[in-house]
Amino acid sequence: MLKLMTPGPTQVRENVRLARSREFTNPDLDSQFFDFYKDTCCLLGKLIGTANPVYILSGEGILALEAACASLTEVGDKVLVLNNGVFGEGFADFVRIYGGEPVLYNADFRQEIKIDKLSEFLKENHDFKYATLVQCDTPSGVLNNVNEIGSLLKEYGILTVVDAVSSMFGEELKVDESCIDIACGGSQKVLSAPPGVCFVSVSKEALTCMKERKTPIASYYGNLLNFTCYYEKQWFPYTMPISDIYGISEALRNVAEDKDIIMRHKMIAEGVRHAVRQGGLSLYIKKGFSNTVTAIEVPEGIKAETVVNRMKDKYHILIAGSIGSMSGKVIRIGHMGENANYEDVAKTLKALTAVLLEQGIPVKTDLEEAFLEYVKLKSQPFLFS
Ligand SMILES: *Cc1c(COP(=O)(O)O)cnc(C)c1O
Repeated sequence: MLKLMTPGPTQVRENVRLARSREFTNPDLDSQFFDFYKDTCCLLGKLIGTANPVYILSGEGILALEAACASLTEVGDKVLVLNNGVFGEGFADFVRIYGGEPVLYNADFRQEIKIDKLSEFLKENHDFKYATLVQCDTPSGVLNNVNEIGSLLKEYGILTVVDAVSSMFGEELKVDESCIDIACGGSQKVLSAPPGVCFVSVSKEALTCMKERKTPIASYYGNLLNFTCYYEKQWFPYTMPISDIYGISEALRNVAEDKDIIMRHKMIAEGVRHAVRQGGLSLYIKKGFSNTVTAIEVPEGIKAETVVNRMKDKYHILIAGSIGSMSGKVIRIGHMGENANYEDVAKTLKALTAVLLEQGIPVKTDLEEAFLEYVKLKSQPFLFS
């Protein structure tokens, strides 16, 4: 078996795998399942700081993004697309598909969106129905301050759709405090359940916007209005993936019981970045690092593919290359969710050091040692057993 150290899918804990194998009932007809679904959604909402309704949808993270755009967009709507990464830019496609006019706010892919610059832009340009933004844009690992940006956009009455698929539970996300109207998450990233389902929280303003549309939502699967009365009506728009949701419920409990989860992500990510720098390698991002994934520039003289393949074939550790303009330029370690444990990250760095040296790439210091030194120095003793 390969050890997954990719930025999704991540490793899945045994209790989650077992929960998915439980006997199940008919999710369309058994009222107990409606209660279970509701409780699961409520726990999720609590963990991301929202009292808004949360819905679990049957489809990977992408469905959450598309459903948000499908439900909000009417033909001719102007939508602000904050773009400093592959997923950021990708929102423009969803807006277009549903007839909207994306207005791209293009920013440097190697750093977080600067609030003061965005603020200047908004003074002159704020006639948007909604804006899309990404918390962690996974192909580069850039982290945007969506909590601050959400509040800023709200000052202009712009609704916000936040893709938090690869950061939710690993980075602070305060949905209500930050006025985030639709927050999107997925099962296979920090939550560490297998791929297959996604989640959305929907604010009152977003709901009103959907209800007051002049034209019907041009989607069935992506129509969030279909979910709003599921409990009262005891009716789901389609049969819910009940076994997936058993797994999600267990995974959410793992997160809820893990009081140090955000801190551990931070410590591990800082340790990885420290090790990369000490080793004389370069981080792709210059400012605004997500603590869930690290993109390392591929050193001169070697291909990303070679590093990934050697890691896999010789050390049975799966790391990732990247996509879009980062394709071939970076390798990525996903230290999120169940992957965010000191032992696996240390092993990954040890193997990476060996692979680079074997390929004739100079590494100034052993990455594992530099990592362990950093986290031992910084972490409180209880984190280190
Ligand atoms: C993983 C991910 C998604 C969802 O993509 P899938 O292909 O459905 O897994 C969306 N946004 C971000 C930022 C992601 O990392």
